Amino acid sequence: ATPTALAVSSGRGSQLGILVSGPEALESTRSIDTVVLDKTGTLTTGVMSLTGTELSPADFDVLARLESRSEHPIARAIVDAAPEIVGMGSAGAASTGTVSTGSVSTEPSSMGSAEESASSASARSVEAPGPSVTDFENIAGGGLRATIDGAEVLAGRPDLLRERGITVDYPTDSIPRGATIVALAIDGQFRGLSFVSDEAKPTAKAAIDELHSLGLSTVLLTGDNAQAAEVVAEALGITEVRADVRPEGKVSVVSELQGQGRAVAMVGDGVNDAAALAGADLGIAMGSGTDAAMAASDVTMVNSDPQQIPQAIRLSRRTLGLIK
Ligand code: ADP
Ligand code: MG
Repeated sequence: ATPTALAVSSGRGSQLGILVSGPEALESTRSIDTVVLDKTGTLTTGVMSLTGTELSPADFDVLARLESRSEHPIARAIVDAAPEIVGMGSAGAASTGTVSTGSVSTEPSSMGSAEESASSASARSVEAPGPSVTDFENIAGGGLRATIDGAEVLAGRPDLLRERGITVDYPTDSIPRGATIVALAIDGQFRGLSFVSDEAKPTAKAAIDELHSLGLSTVLLTGDNAQAAEVVAEALGITEVRADVRPEGKVSVVSELQGQGRAVAMVGDGVNDAAALAGADLGIAMGSGTDAAMAASDVTMVNSDPQQIPQAIRLSRRTLGLIK
């Protein structure tokens, strides 16, 4: 259903920025006892930054050229960091340098003028990869592949590389706590890891607390790795976590919960959330998210603020109380 502004509780809903697809959408909120929440872009800002890389500047440049074809928040983080990392290489800095201290600043003012011109040149090459990137393929829930300068380039979850017969070995203690891992292979050879992460939205904790105080149980559902999911779940007080879930697996988790007799609200923002949003008893999309997520949902939170989730549930409970 296409979300249209519909007055909820005498216009209070649209005032709050809660768009409802139709009156029947609210009917289902009565019985909701479980709220399933996507992580990236729903509970976290979805604005990722690079927190470290093991790649040489040359390999990072290849990764950035591949990622420049993707819309994923991971891709933005890699592409944004490229001028500084690749600039390091062309400015003669250590070619195997590992960046591991905090976020990489991409502020031109933080760099010398020589580096600045080198990095703006590489920024251009990242933004306009040219004809050397061919056969681009977006592998849903896993990563990306393409032919770049004649080489076969694959980047994404370590398991994606392993599924394609590439040996990916690294000590688990080399991973920054809670980071999302991007593994790179060129011509079937593992080249190293890069790490990206984002932060919980400022109101996410209060939103989860409020859902719990309304008597609802919460589940974190993500395609990201278990450790990254645990860090967010722990910070927000969510005890049930489903991580490493492929896009087609998200809807299965929702129907599994429904099979246990639970009435499920699903909150998400991505294309990969659309089937789960449609399958849930109540689908709630973030306004900042994809059109696919909004089209599959009963309710859209215009401000993408997690606190609108308990607000919408309270509002519809109250409205239905008046109607019935
Ligand atoms: P989510 O939005 O829940 O993280 P996705 O299905 O979008 O789930 O992605 C699942 C995983 O696939 C990501 O956590 C990441 O490991 C990998 N992935 C997806 N897109 C990319 C990309 N452009 N570059 C690298 N890895 C990616
Ligand atoms: Mg998401």
